[in-house]
Amino acid sequence: MPDPNGFLRYDRRLPARRPVPVRISDWREVYPPAGEELIREQATRCMDCGIPFCHDGCPLGNRIPDWNDLVRTGNWDAAVESLHATNNFPEFTGRLCPAPCEAACVLGIGGGQPVTIKQVEVEIADAAVARGGLRPRPVPAPTGRSVAVVGSGPAGLAAAQQLARAGHAVTVYERDDAIGGLLRYGIPDFKLEKQHIDRRLAQLAAEGVQFRTGVDVGVDVTAEQLRAEHDAVLLACGALQGRDTPETPGRQLRGVHQAMAHLVAANRVVAAAGDGRPALAVLSDGTPIDAAGKHVVIIGGGDTAADCLGVAHRQGAAGVHQLDLYPEPPQTRDAARDPWPTWPWVLRSYPAHEEGGERVFAVAVQEFVDDGTGQVKGVRIAEVSVEKRDGRRIVTPLPGSERELPADLVLLAIGFEGTEQQPLLEQFGVRRNTRGAVDARPDWQTDADGVFVAGDMHRGASLIVWAIAEGRAAAAAIHTYLGGVGELPAPVDPARQPLAAR
Ligand SMILES: Cc1cc2nc3c(=O)[nH]c(=O)nc-3n(C[C@H](O)[C@H](O)[C@H](O)COP(=O)(O)OP(=O)(O)OC[C@H]3O[C@@H](n4cnc5c(N)ncnc54)[C@H](O)[C@@H]3O)c2cc1C
Ligand code: SF4
Repeated sequence: MPDPNGFLRYDRRLPARRPVPVRISDWREVYPPAGEELIREQATRCMDCGIPFCHDGCPLGNRIPDWNDLVRTGNWDAAVESLHATNNFPEFTGRLCPAPCEAACVLGIGGGQPVTIKQVEVEIADAAVARGGLRPRPVPAPTGRSVAVVGSGPAGLAAAQQLARAGHAVTVYERDDAIGGLLRYGIPDFKLEKQHIDRRLAQLAAEGVQFRTGVDVGVDVTAEQLRAEHDAVLLACGALQGRDTPETPGRQLRGVHQAMAHLVAANRVVAAAGDGRPALAVLSDGTPIDAAGKHVVIIGGGDTAADCLGVAHRQGAAGVHQLDLYPEPPQTRDAARDPWPTWPWVLRSYPAHEEGGERVFAVAVQEFVDDGTGQVKGVRIAEVSVEKRDGRRIVTPLPGSERELPADLVLLAIGFEGTEQQPLLEQFGVRRNTRGAVDARPDWQTDADGVFVAGDMHRGASLIVWAIAEGRAAAAAIHTYLGGVGELPAPVDPARQPLAAR
């Protein structure tokens, strides 16, 4: 029986982050472990609501009140079991999820303080490691059926684990040199240290999942070959087509790059250097893309932009501006616009924003300025108003508001346009829709029979928690397609959307 008054006795508290000067001198995670006392106190704030709206916020259907109470009572082994019943990788979501469950927590009504669900989650996930490691589950007798999973992000890995645990032979194909998708080289170590991925991969391998890196499906192996070797294929190739701004004068200048180029180069250097201070980040052709000593301008306001900000400071940038097209959001939920329990439009400040830099809202780049040698030396911006007309976004510069910011390195973090246009699509006979995503039928099959899709490739650029949920659901559909015994859990269907006001 949970404590119905816990939230009256305890305020919401998060663990202290490591001090800024310390953490920007290394690449370790920003949050140290919270400590058992704090986490049990915070779990005590959960009322175990009769109708727990946190469940509706989480696409995985995590049993949040159950594991909050198990943590409150110190029942860690049962909490680990309960959390893993719905989530293959809580160590990823606990660290990285923006926590729609917290936005939907009943304690958040009227500007209240939701339970620190995500913090409890990560502590349970880490307790699993501390209390004997991520032990592989015993797998049933082989079914004799085999599945190819293309793409090794959270969607592909969740599906692979579910299918292997049902007795199917699973091979994950990844074109990169390491498994993990965006978790590996997209998201920096200060948000997710990579040993968390490696531990999980060891568990998957022990459960029978085969990994083949450096295989670009559609190039190194054809769709036809893959279909001949396997009984079903899951495409989980992400939504990695970065949006660009080719019409902006000066886009071709040296020093203007896609944000992902910067993040991948930086993360590769960190991976190669271990915990030491790494060498300068360069692109694969040797072009430097390091922020050390540079004035950096990051264009965009989301996760990717905040990650570039944190990387730029760790690389030793001279100064950073982060530009956002939209006006500064409010600090608290506007209930008329985004009523509880929906996801609110509020100012989101990531730990990277504590580390320095200046955020500039309601501005748009008019030109990348040439230093006369083909290298960018500045960014000319104007204040703008943004409105929607006939479903189209109209951006209007305010006359006389133009100014120039110094810039030696400009990073475009302005979103993604869906899954990449690549040979694999045509070979499998699947098409990108108007959003650049690949549609799924209600049973997660694409237009091609026996070819399934999940994660960002289906949903468009989204979140890890949605990728895991879709990976689990697609695995359930594949299991049924292969004539597997019983049903696997399917937390979402392809049409499921986040909570929204209708
Ligand atoms: C910089 C950045 C930061 C983010 N931070 C967060 C965060 O803090 N919290 C959060 O919840 N979400 C975050 N996201 C979003 C999250 O990372 C994605 O939603 C999630 O990784 C999608 O998982 P996925 O498995 O669908 O695809 P991905 O993780 O994109 O993995 C797709 C994989 O498919 C591989 N692939 C593609 N084509 C082929 C092919 N032909 N052959 C073989 N392999 C192929 C790719 O190399 C890649 O490894 C972030 C995204 C970015 C870009
Ligand atoms: S909505 Fe909040 S208080 Fe209620 S069960 Fe979920 S976490 Fe606990």
